[in-house]
Amino acid sequence: MTYQTPRGTYDILPDEIYKWHDVEDKIRNIAEKYCYEEIRTPYFESTGVFARENDSSDMVNKEMYSFMSGDESYTLRPEGTAGVIRSFDQHKFYGSMELPTKFYYVGPMFRHERPQKGRQRQFTQFGVENIGVKSPEIDAETIALGINIIKSLGIQSYKVLINTLGDDASRSAYREALKTHFKDHLDELCGDCHRRYEQNPLRILDCKVDHDNPIVQSAPQLSDYLNDESKEYFQRVLNALDALGIPYEIDNRLVRGLDYYTHTVFEVVSTRKDSGAQATVFAGGRYDHLVEYFGGPELSGMGFAIGLERLLMLASEEGYEFTLPKELDAYVISLGNVGSTPLVIANKLRDKGYKCEVNMTARSLKAQFKSADRNKAKYIIILGEDELKEGVVNLKNTATREQVTVSIDDIEKQIESWNA
Ligand SMILES: [Zn+2]
Repeated sequence: MTYQTPRGTYDILPDEIYKWHDVEDKIRNIAEKYCYEEIRTPYFESTGVFARENDSSDMVNKEMYSFMSGDESYTLRPEGTAGVIRSFDQHKFYGSMELPTKFYYVGPMFRHERPQKGRQRQFTQFGVENIGVKSPEIDAETIALGINIIKSLGIQSYKVLINTLGDDASRSAYREALKTHFKDHLDELCGDCHRRYEQNPLRILDCKVDHDNPIVQSAPQLSDYLNDESKEYFQRVLNALDALGIPYEIDNRLVRGLDYYTHTVFEVVSTRKDSGAQATVFAGGRYDHLVEYFGGPELSGMGFAIGLERLLMLASEEGYEFTLPKELDAYVISLGNVGSTPLVIANKLRDKGYKCEVNMTARSLKAQFKSADRNKAKYIIILGEDELKEGVVNLKNTATREQVTVSIDDIEKQIESWNA
């Protein structure tokens, strides 16, 4: 039998992994500067963690990988926020002295979607959640964090789209207005929008099928239904973005794909021509009811998620040079019956912090030199039976082509003097 990776999944091979390490290092470094701490939640949770009552999103309704184990239904996490909030409540972080609690996560997510460029069924997300304090300044700072990350990877062509969904009162007034607007026009909308009409009519505005539908275009605007409190909150977010020097565009139709958002929602999109129609780089928003949903008190949170596959792609497109893996310091060539001495030599060097490879195959000197060359070894250590008898090796500096004979105990000293 032969097998391939399942559709929508892929192997990250050594010639790509260094890019991932670079991106992950940058992300951790920046998140930690903003005093976020990493949290690792399980890759699967009880299905109810994600499939919340009456959720209208495609993610919950169409794209989840769920399975039964005994009498319980579990789901591979399709996103990071729900698990983090479940954990926040389970461990009663809300009782801690210092709110907000600031978490970040990096790891695989799973959605049963049609695979396309930059979209996989198993994909990797980095995200942050700032939980416990409702403040417009937190919303702005969270956006700034994300922008810092994409800038650190050389991504310059982007813009920030922002909107407010208002508080509960504003949104329910708007929801009623939308219901009235669409009531007699349901047959003009796609099948999914019929479900959205019942569950969350705001999502009709987000429909890709009905994007240019006149009845959607003529829908009432959320901004006309915002109460003063919601308007003031939003204005403070914008003021803080101005103060941080982050340009933005207000996009009245931005509602985001998940049902739990309130107040601020935003999307940072790539403005590169070759990255498709306004590809999202990262996106998120504020949520007022998730902490309660999982049994905690009434506390608000703010977060975003970045898909790392797309982030890597954009960084490459913008010419970012990823940090290369550490090069090989020394390669040990072994000839004839030299027992385990090559291993001992290599291990001593590794203990001192050198990256070291040892030949373990009976093959010619020429073949071994080729391996050393292919691995870009800075130094080559040659040990044959004669050398072993005398307790020495031949040591070659590949940059200067200098070659010396040194005692086995002096290899490190010689390398150090070359390195100096
Ligand atoms: Zn539709």
